[in-house]
Amino acid sequence: MTTRRDFLRATAGAGAGAAFGIVPSAGLGASAAVHLGRVTPVAVGSGNGRAACARAIEVVQQGGDTLDAVIQGVNIVERDPNDTSVGYGGLPNLDGVVQLDSSVMHGPTRGAGAVASLEGVKTPSLVARDVMRYTNHVLLVGPGAKEFAKSMGYPMENLLTEESRRRWVEWRARLSDRDDYLTPEQSIHGATGFRSEASYGDGLLDSHDGVRPQGTINCNVINANGDLSGVTTTSGLAWKIPGRVGDSPIVGAGLYVDNDVGAAGSTGRGESVIKTVGGHTVVEMMRNGMSPTDACLEALRRIVTFTVEPHLLDEEGRPNFGVNYYAVNKNGEFGGAAIFAGARFAVSVDGDTRLEDSAYLFQRN
Ligand code: ASP
Repeated sequence: MTTRRDFLRATAGAGAGAAFGIVPSAGLGASAAVHLGRVTPVAVGSGNGRAACARAIEVVQQGGDTLDAVIQGVNIVERDPNDTSVGYGGLPNLDGVVQLDSSVMHGPTRGAGAVASLEGVKTPSLVARDVMRYTNHVLLVGPGAKEFAKSMGYPMENLLTEESRRRWVEWRARLSDRDDYLTPEQSIHGATGFRSEASYGDGLLDSHDGVRPQGTINCNVINANGDLSGVTTTSGLAWKIPGRVGDSPIVGAGLYVDNDVGAAGSTGRGESVIKTVGGHTVVEMMRNGMSPTDACLEALRRIVTFTVEPHLLDEEGRPNFGVNYYAVNKNGEFGGAAIFAGARFAVSVDGDTRLEDSAYLFQRN
């Protein structure tokens, strides 16, 4: 069993892993890297991203752009009413309103675009790409993001599915025994439609607090020329305070792409990823020679170090929430890591799309 103190002692000063073929380029300083030769295209992303990764690879194999590839991939999940962590059917905020976050980065043109707290559009990743393509800005939020989406021709749609609405109604009823909403147990008048949270086997990735569902999709791709792009898209933390923005639309946190080095994205407790600038940290670790897996692990160790709030620690002083990183480097090597054992990530390479076990810091008790 690893305690927090053992863990911090064991990992203090953990150095960069072995260099893996990214060669520091002369004249650009030790931190710059160049890519040599052709690459086997790879898409890597979150565990709910198998179909997305497969689609992304299909698009790059047909000569499509890397950003179009990952967006077409995640659009499948954004439009799927049965994935309650992303896009249409995403679990709503405290007020029962679905607010979506997404960011995109296009390696070859060094482009970035993002939207946060966007309402009414199933595919926030497409709006994020439009922010990149059609504005001089990187991030639009709330009503501004919605007006922008309208101006770009997106239809405004109801994103709350019947299933997500019911889960929100049940959550509201169980929130407090001192309000006027009746739980199924309290109602003697035949309340229907309630199921307990535990009975929803929807494959959500993890939970901030063991109760509240969360989830996101991240997908990154590299094509045969070594060009990279990535996207992260989510409905964020279920039942969040209206206007709460997680890591997914924050460039450098939920996503980062440097076409000279690699791409990385995250799922899990966004606040912790934001505080440690997770995606950027992973990419910088890869720039300094770490493998994608080691870079993901090192960025997770930062999160452990930054997690000092008692309400975020378990009895052993470890984080009581999950974070997952996914990364691919300029040579097409890829990896994924999570704070706790048991997580998996999606990968599509060489005609095979599969889930692989993520590396991890801690065994779950
Ligand atoms: N990272 C997302 C957020 O904090 C949620 C998640 O991935 O579960 O908004």
